[in-house]
Amino acid sequence: MANAFFEIREPENESYNSYAPGTPERKKLREEIDRLKGQEIEIPAIIGGQKIKTDHQQDVVMPHNHQHTLGSVHLCGEKEVEMAIEASQQARREWADLPWEERASIFLKAADLITGPYRYTMNAATMLGQSKTPHQSEIEAVGELADFLRFNAYYLQQLYREQPYSPDGMWNRMEYRPLEGFIFAVTPFNFTAIAGNLPLAPALCGNVSLWKPATSSIYSSYFIMKVLHEAGMPEGVINFLPGNGADVGNPVVESEHLAGLHFTGSTGTFQHLWKSIADNIETYNTYPRIVGETGGKDFIFAHESADVDALVVAAIRAAYEYQGQKCSAASRMYIPESIWGSFREKFLEEVQKVKYGDVEDFSNFMGAVIDQKAFNTITSYIDYVQESDDGEILFGGNYDDSEGYFIEPTLVLARDPHFKTMEEEIFGPVLTVYVYEDDQFEETLQLCDTTSPYGLTGAIFARDRYVLKKMSDKLRQAAGNFYINDKPTAAIVNQQPFGGARKSGTNDKAGSAANLMRWMSMRSIKETT
Ligand code: GLU
Repeated sequence: MANAFFEIREPENESYNSYAPGTPERKKLREEIDRLKGQEIEIPAIIGGQKIKTDHQQDVVMPHNHQHTLGSVHLCGEKEVEMAIEASQQARREWADLPWEERASIFLKAADLITGPYRYTMNAATMLGQSKTPHQSEIEAVGELADFLRFNAYYLQQLYREQPYSPDGMWNRMEYRPLEGFIFAVTPFNFTAIAGNLPLAPALCGNVSLWKPATSSIYSSYFIMKVLHEAGMPEGVINFLPGNGADVGNPVVESEHLAGLHFTGSTGTFQHLWKSIADNIETYNTYPRIVGETGGKDFIFAHESADVDALVVAAIRAAYEYQGQKCSAASRMYIPESIWGSFREKFLEEVQKVKYGDVEDFSNFMGAVIDQKAFNTITSYIDYVQESDDGEILFGGNYDDSEGYFIEPTLVLARDPHFKTMEEEIFGPVLTVYVYEDDQFEETLQLCDTTSPYGLTGAIFARDRYVLKKMSDKLRQAAGNFYINDKPTAAIVNQQPFGGARKSGTNDKAGSAANLMRWMSMRSIKETT
């Protein structure tokens, strides 16, 4: 129940530093980059608050300069998972019994640390470890992460206040309990903010978590653990288990204490985990809650009345920011014949200005893709286009992994709307355009809806309101985050709650109260008065 004397004011979204030339923040960020690069750190597992070293270590390298080692990480297996389950179960009751305001205050303090003394560390760690530009790091590893922490605390307060009706003679009430067990958080490489939110949102609601961060983004994830420690997170509430998927995942799903999965990552891994949970369903003390966000094949659909300049900016930003490694990145585009000529001309003019390379050169718009595996997958699509008669590279197509995993921003023209790069998720800086006859507008809308099994994000561009309404209706199920005359990326906490359905996930919107509800089990109490 809410304490009447304690009130969390509705937060505002965190503001961003620009890091423009000559600003003091630019200097501070550079200093922090140098500091981090000048030391090598050893990243342990953290179980029950203890730093645990294992027999398996792996180097942590920078994607834009893979010869440079930032440190090493200790990888976990069955033994560490068992220790973490034990530690989480020891911590569980005390944490659940802590008044919610006490829990919330840890998260609010963590947000202040991230936006205050740790601001440059979070930004620099994400730049170096995940090859983000200062801007891309700032908006998420600082801004979005702090927003998640603050808004979730606020949503929790609002949810706890939701109480049932009590007629005379009784007092009805709702108790919002945490789940009975631990939550398994499996986090992606592409967003430090998501990596933090997946174990932390359930923990705020009184749950304990086992967190398996993506090994390719371990560096920034480790700094989140440091912040949490400093903010006063009790031992055993969040257990940090770097490791390979199966080594950590297999023993986790066999534990009777598994009460939930909070996942962002590939569709294949999510389906595999879901099936493993189904196979073990009789093992568990409770039915695990499964919340996941997976892939996307996100679209931009233009009508003949679209503003071409706006379309060009949206396409470049949505397809190439963070090298297209966002679940929300635009990777297929439908353009009518009548505006194709002017779009093509302007796009080619603008995309030539897109600089890519070392993110430590602040003038670059794009860095490297995350690792060799991603590089090989993305470039295999580029090679496929080069050899195909149904697709043509209009811009880009070059790549080089000798120093870092660099891929040029690439534009593909598809002659067939079912061309491979129109249908499959690439997760890299490759945008494919299909040009449709203006009188095939309705049929192409239908095609856009049915081409991909995903349903994460999409954008439509038109001036005419009747047309916008028709497009919006026809594409109702095609995207959980739908944008009108804007790029389909960069959702902001509390402004555009994020998530998609179909094969993109369970659509339990991150950055909204709906997500928190999944981590609570309600007790309905009736008392006769
Ligand atoms: N929320 C991010 C955006 O709107 C995408 C998250 C993801 O890639 O999983 O761009």
